[in-house]
Amino acid sequence: MTKAILVLNAGSSSIKFTVYDCDTDTAHVTVRFKGQIEGIGTQPRFTVEDRTGATIHEDTWAVRPAGRGHAYALERLAAYLDPQLPEDGLLGIGHRVVHGGPLFSAPVVVDETILETLKTFVPLAPLHQPANLAGISATMEFLPGVPNVACFDTAFHRTHSEVVERFALPEEFYIEGVRRYGFHGLSYEYIARALRSIAPEIADGRVVVAHLGNGASMCAIHQGRSIESTMGFTALDGLPMGTRCGQIDPGVLLYLMQEKGMDARQIEDLLYKRSGLLGLSGISNDMRALMASSDPRAALAIEYFVYRIIRETGALASALGGLDGLVFTAGIGENSAPIRERVCRGLAWLGVHLDPVANEGHGPRITTSDSRVSAWVIPTDEEQMIARHTFTALHGR
Ligand code: AMP
Repeated sequence: MTKAILVLNAGSSSIKFTVYDCDTDTAHVTVRFKGQIEGIGTQPRFTVEDRTGATIHEDTWAVRPAGRGHAYALERLAAYLDPQLPEDGLLGIGHRVVHGGPLFSAPVVVDETILETLKTFVPLAPLHQPANLAGISATMEFLPGVPNVACFDTAFHRTHSEVVERFALPEEFYIEGVRRYGFHGLSYEYIARALRSIAPEIADGRVVVAHLGNGASMCAIHQGRSIESTMGFTALDGLPMGTRCGQIDPGVLLYLMQEKGMDARQIEDLLYKRSGLLGLSGISNDMRALMASSDPRAALAIEYFVYRIIRETGALASALGGLDGLVFTAGIGENSAPIRERVCRGLAWLGVHLDPVANEGHGPRITTSDSRVSAWVIPTDEEQMIARHTFTALHGR
């Protein structure tokens, strides 16, 4: 039997959604259609495309009063979906939720009590968690009776040891939740599963996955389980990103406060929105724009990005006690052969030997057959992971 599953990714100013058909006998999911509502709070625009990428719906409306933007967008989406769905409606709705705190190591069916618990994690992810939860509240209101499943970006990393999770701070901070959580977990979980069919020879080994998109992080995976991540308490740590700084000496923040008189809001704006590739280059947060530029600051930003990936790979390989495979994924990882080439060349000492032709062709395997460590390009699919989790949470398998 085929059932429909809605996957929602509600961000601060946009809602992305995908409707999947799910074969309840095989648990296989395929995209039926997908779309987004952008410009919530400024200029809302609702677009839907079919599985070939052709636009099948476009719509705009006036901005709602503050605080009602997400709810109204979801009301419009629910009204659009109603005639498109099979007669028995939706099996369930899977939501991307950035933070599951220390409590959730797996997706969970959301009721009012769980929703209240998830709200207590807002201080851990103040920029994303409120929008994610607004999406759940709105589907409870506009699609009543359809179960909601929260799928967390942190859950895949709850296999980390206490040493990995700790900061070298007094214990009271750890107890109240100041921990290295790790993010992009849905992407890493998808890759860990995909390895079983695409690269079975390393699926049970020691693998570093580089999720290189506008947000970027890396994860050390052993026997399919996450053991370490470059991201920590927030999605700021680790690699430099489009506009986020990545690893930074906390002494810099003290300097900014004490010598520059910057307050928390100004520092947040600097670290989240004006740093990373944009801050280094002064040109763009977009890797394609930097690669097309002849400005030396663009070259410096790219060099910094590549250097940090190489450096973190060494650290993660140490955490794993060796390395069998390296996987590139997300916008830059999947599409930029020159970045992959530079990273792999910097890791030749670890036994990574690039096959330039395979790399130009985007793999999936991009190393020579005698390379001791194999490297791969595997497109990630966080939405599909959420759809599969939603089915499992509601069907028990
Ligand atoms: P994502 O957040 O996963 O959508 O990734 C967005 C990033 O991928 C942006 O920095 C894009 O410039 C980058 N990107 C996409 N395609 C390419 C490409 N062909 N070469 C270099 N960067 C790319």
